[in-house]
Amino acid sequence: MIIKLDKDIIKSYFEDQSGLLGGNADKVIFPENEKDVTNILQDAASKKEPITISGSGTGVTGARVPFGGTILATDSLNKIIDIDEENLFATLEPGVRLQELQELLYQKGLMYPPEPTEQNAFIGGTISTNASGAKGFKYGPTRNYIKRLKIILSTGDILDIKRGTLFINKRNPFSLKLKDKDIKIKIPNYLMPEIKSAAGYYIKDNMDLIDLFIGQEGTLGLIMESDLVLAKRPERTMSFFSFFTSERDALDFVKVAKSKQAISLEYMDANSLGLLRHKFSNIPKNATAMVYFEQDYKKDEEKSLLDSWVKLLEKHKASIEESYFADRDKEREKLKELRHALPEMINEIVKRNKLPKVGTDIAVPEYNFSEMFTFYKEKLGSSGIDFVIFGHIGESHLHVNMLPKSEEEFIKSRSVYTDFVKKAVSLGGTVSAEHGIGKLKHAYLEVMYGKKNLEQMAMLKRSLDPACILGLDNIFPKELLK
Ligand SMILES: Cc1cc2nc3c(=O)[nH]c(=O)nc-3n(C[C@H](O)[C@H](O)[C@H](O)COP(=O)(O)OP(=O)(O)OC[C@H]3O[C@@H](n4cnc5c(N)ncnc54)[C@H](O)[C@@H]3O)c2cc1C
Repeated sequence: MIIKLDKDIIKSYFEDQSGLLGGNADKVIFPENEKDVTNILQDAASKKEPITISGSGTGVTGARVPFGGTILATDSLNKIIDIDEENLFATLEPGVRLQELQELLYQKGLMYPPEPTEQNAFIGGTISTNASGAKGFKYGPTRNYIKRLKIILSTGDILDIKRGTLFINKRNPFSLKLKDKDIKIKIPNYLMPEIKSAAGYYIKDNMDLIDLFIGQEGTLGLIMESDLVLAKRPERTMSFFSFFTSERDALDFVKVAKSKQAISLEYMDANSLGLLRHKFSNIPKNATAMVYFEQDYKKDEEKSLLDSWVKLLEKHKASIEESYFADRDKEREKLKELRHALPEMINEIVKRNKLPKVGTDIAVPEYNFSEMFTFYKEKLGSSGIDFVIFGHIGESHLHVNMLPKSEEEFIKSRSVYTDFVKKAVSLGGTVSAEHGIGKLKHAYLEVMYGKKNLEQMAMLKRSLDPACILGLDNIFPKELLK
């Protein structure tokens, strides 16, 4: 293993993309194998020294930002152990970069269907946050593609869990049998909304034990190895970047497009397009909304599919001549770049303003989406704060990013955010659909599940991490562990 004490190296691990400031740690350790990880964790547990597991640092909730103790960086645990082309799964160490995996799979005519998130993320980070991506509309989040996980607990115990082998229910504590002991795990009693959610631990009655470790945000154990489900790449995919001059027309288009077997359905509002125009001058001047969608197809379906999409776009007054269409991978990459540039530009502004990110990750049930959207627009309109709205409209999951320019505006944004959270929860929604809670959203999780359930989450953590050293202050305040 490699231990770095150099201040500049350690400092680069004090931040992620959330803008959370004040991170600090004594050292960063880079384990190179399972034995290193076990030794580091056991040693830290014996001294009750906090450990923050670090992936690639693309997270947006401060989850990998340490506040004391040691950083356990997974950068050197980066082997692609196996790609089983016949049985369609990949076995990976946690520090493999998503981009490296996708490129390798591409050459083999395969894909990792959820294509979660920012390409620089590590696989371990995406599992630990249950990340999802633009294709979530069809394929769902990371969770749906995890077959097996090897987890190293802070006690040094190693769990190798295959999906479908161990189940926990809410009534009785679960007895996890290890070589020399049993660990009793009692899961909290809350009901998760029946929509995409990454808020707090995944809890369901008769749930698969493996699901507890997906979306755990580095609080229960280190993900050392994973088996991911793969799929064959579709024959062809068409992508549209369609511009509208009226927000209403765009939203009406989305309602109908949802039933048309797209694989992704994404939205950008007028302010998002305004921001993008600084980098991409070819965005039509009069566009006030954009809907991005993709669909897989076979060669002989191309003409009829294309015709039917164009008809639908025309019906909803999209500017067909100015919209972009791609049916080749190279062209699609350009569109993806354009789409991805927006969250990057927002994160740059957040960093420049030196205030933490105030970006929502709320999703609501489809039947309540219109009410939530109207609420966003009314509140934001009267707040006077700069904002952009974009995201996964196919799953009724939009990111509202407020961009405060001063401490005063920041405080106001947080208050508007709390109003959004209360409204979303009253509509059966989640406070985090994909980013997780990290260190910035405890209060919102409490609105969603109540203090008692946060305490039960802390109890659950204590059963798997009895020294209470892992990912402190992620998901719930560390004070609940006392
Ligand atoms: C431009 C941009 C766009 C984004 N778009 C999306 C999006 O569309 N969807 C989405 O879901 N997210 C998105 N994100 C957020 C981010 O990319 C994801 O949260 C990603 O999964 C984080 O991975 P990471 O390796 O960077 O993890 P980090 O930020 O380093 O860590 C995140 C959490 O995972 C834990 N962790 C990391 N590795 C391990 C491990 N091996 N074992 C246990 N715990 C571990 C850390 O302790 C921490 O709690 C975006 C971010 C950016 C910057």
